[in-house]
Amino acid sequence: RQERFAALRDKPSITRDGVEITLLHNSGLIADLPAIEETGAAGIGLFRTELQFMIASKLPRLAEQVELYSEAMELVNGRPIVFRLLDIGGDKVVPYLRAEAEENPAMGWRSLRLALDRPGLIRTQIRGLLQAANGRDLDILVPMITDATEFREARKVLDVELKRLDNAGFKRPKNLRFGAMIEVPSLLFELDHLLPMTDFVSIGSNDLVQFLTAADRANSRVVRRYDPIAIPRLRAFKHVADAAKRHNVPLTMCGELAGRPIEALALMAIGIDRLSMAASSIGQIKELVLSLDLQAIRGQICAALDEGGDPLIIRDLIYDLADRQ
Ligand code: PEP
Ligand code: MG
Repeated sequence: RQERFAALRDKPSITRDGVEITLLHNSGLIADLPAIEETGAAGIGLFRTELQFMIASKLPRLAEQVELYSEAMELVNGRPIVFRLLDIGGDKVVPYLRAEAEENPAMGWRSLRLALDRPGLIRTQIRGLLQAANGRDLDILVPMITDATEFREARKVLDVELKRLDNAGFKRPKNLRFGAMIEVPSLLFELDHLLPMTDFVSIGSNDLVQFLTAADRANSRVVRRYDPIAIPRLRAFKHVADAAKRHNVPLTMCGELAGRPIEALALMAIGIDRLSMAASSIGQIKELVLSLDLQAIRGQICAALDEGGDPLIIRDLIYDLADRQ
């Protein structure tokens, strides 16, 4: 299998009926990045910057962060890399940042909430990213936004840092894109407000599904309830995909489900054409993309979404379609 996948490396990622699907990596450690030379992926769709903080023994200072981010940019060798601002808390513990014990950490004082209340952390991080870019392109992604106003707050921090950058005589990034993660359900109901403020969006399906189903993403007892491609969840994703198209904002799916064939197929069928996944999944998803007649599948999956019914219907349908292809 590995050899078969390696042979696909340089083939364009296009379905049999001509739909281009962009395949990207999720990663978080510098050590993960060189894998991109082997998979042939188009870039890094999600760089979880907190992972490097989690393995450090103390808070990385500005100079260390600049070094880290510029090393990351060099390793991807001109390909795009989306740096997600620190997503600390919930399942991601940074031991030297005092973590208050919370009843419900996934819904607690985490990620952007913590960052907006104590802006020193992301101010330094954004400064580090801008300096590391040093005139190159820069993509920054904001996690765990509850309301669109929080995205605007984060943007204000960026604006202040851009002025500082100018005053200190550094170069601005050539293209600077500031994007929003959609992973809190409330945002689904103000997309028309959020999307005009963003340069790109990314669905964090791990969290979005956890919050839509009220089923812990890491609890195996409730995994059946967590099904990310059951009809109500797919409708939610399609709602985002349709809105992003309407506003002409690029959308990536960056939860783990994009790396699983059945799930990836359902996502492509509802019109999501940028999939970010673990590096180890790229080969099998690329093989799937190349074998696919998307148009044929799209109609049937969208009809099933309109009709509704058993939450498992999409899985059955896809097994059926796969047999016939
Ligand atoms: C997600 O929530 O889907 C996501 C990509 O972010 P993380 O898994 O790091 O929370
Ligand atoms: Mg998340």
